[in-house]
Amino acid sequence: MASATDTVSAGSPGNAPVVTRFAPSPTGFLHIGGARTALFNWLYARHNGGKYLLRIEDTDRARSTDAAIEAIFDGLNWLGLGGDEEPVFQFARSERHAQVAHQMLEAGHAYRCYLTQEELAARREKAQAERRPFRIDSEWRDATPDQWPADQSYVVRMKAPREGETTIPDRVQGFITVQNSELDDFIVLRSDGTPTYMLAVVVDDHDMGVTHVIRGDDHINNAFRQLVIVRAMNEIEGGWPDPIYAHIPLIHGADGAKLSKRHGALGVDAYRDEMGLLPEAVFNYLLRLGWGHGDEEIISRDQAVEWFDIANVNKGASRFDLKKLLNLNGHYIREADDARLAGLVAPRLAVLEPGFDAKAGMDLLTRAMPVLKVRAADLNELATSSVFLFAQRPLPMAEKAAALLTDDSRAILAKVVAALEAENGWTIEGLEATLKQIAEELGIGLGKIAQPLRASLTGQTTSPGIFDVLALLGKDESLARIRDQLA
Ligand code: GLU
Repeated sequence: MASATDTVSAGSPGNAPVVTRFAPSPTGFLHIGGARTALFNWLYARHNGGKYLLRIEDTDRARSTDAAIEAIFDGLNWLGLGGDEEPVFQFARSERHAQVAHQMLEAGHAYRCYLTQEELAARREKAQAERRPFRIDSEWRDATPDQWPADQSYVVRMKAPREGETTIPDRVQGFITVQNSELDDFIVLRSDGTPTYMLAVVVDDHDMGVTHVIRGDDHINNAFRQLVIVRAMNEIEGGWPDPIYAHIPLIHGADGAKLSKRHGALGVDAYRDEMGLLPEAVFNYLLRLGWGHGDEEIISRDQAVEWFDIANVNKGASRFDLKKLLNLNGHYIREADDARLAGLVAPRLAVLEPGFDAKAGMDLLTRAMPVLKVRAADLNELATSSVFLFAQRPLPMAEKAAALLTDDSRAILAKVVAALEAENGWTIEGLEATLKQIAEELGIGLGKIAQPLRASLTGQTTSPGIFDVLALLGKDESLARIRDQLA
């Protein structure tokens, strides 16, 4: 059994190559908190030239689903956080977990407990009535084999230390100390012989060579119990050093309340599919959620790997801020390669504009990206703003655009058509010169021409710059669209 106050057992993993893991329970999709835990594990491993592994904790058979497993892998891969090796599935390792329990049982670190549910319930009630904290003081803890009742099922409980205290030197939280008298003799094998979650985590971490356990701080209490198992096994066979723990604070909403859908905190799949975010934006956002490097807001993957240290993770809860995420996304959209963006926008555009043919339209869509992406915060906005390029003539007119097409403005457009027909090069510079000349001749501002022209070319009152619109649509299409509004 671990001595009362030691913090790190003999075989500390301090000098071993770093191995981290992300161990989601597949009971729902990959949410923002899980993705951030994965990211910090990935970064810590990369920063230290170590390994980052995945483990699917699917021992809760009733709540684990294949769809959730799929969604978790899908989300991780999208963020570039797939594991360095094949993932481990926890349930498939039940026999190994049970084997460790039996080793501890034989070595006297665990015991057969024959207390029945009824006995436990009665004791719990009594403690409550007497207003004292309930602790499982099982008389079976020190029973000898000759005292074991025949034909009665039992659970296997750890002999948790009762004296002294245990301190965990947590890399994020600092030193956390618990009085050992608060640790109960928790169960490692149920009466049907199946291992508990507490046992499975420890055995898997050991067998996977995990040196650093980086996870949500809702697991701090588990860490003290898990250490009881680790230290028992280290005494029995050696080679079970205390893992280095780093418990990262939860994420709260901008209002400080526990994070929920209401705050825009969704599954990673929703960020990708419904919100049209880029993975590098989500990556950058998650990174800054509880960790920072000076005032840097935009941090690339490579910089993150270079700078990341788990010791710099904030102790306090971080706040999820959807606006910040969207701002970052706008930045990364502007940075993104145009052909890649066009590929991401195409399926969204096809939904909005049935006239869009991805094969024929990809070239134009790609060429349009530089002027469209400066005004877009997400892929949906990009798709919406590119609809006009592929809309079928005669263009449907938005109400405000139709209002701009008065008799007066039609007369202006008639002049524009005549001048543009004579236009040879169809360059932005040439078009600009031509329209400016018309404005001068008519003694009006360029805006007076641009407004109805924009309406006729796009069916909208907002669009990229009018010369960009003309250049992208080309001469024939531009003239045809204007003529449609003159007829
Ligand atoms: N499966 C646990 C969870 O999803 C994580 C356990 C661990 O990281 O040790 O919360």
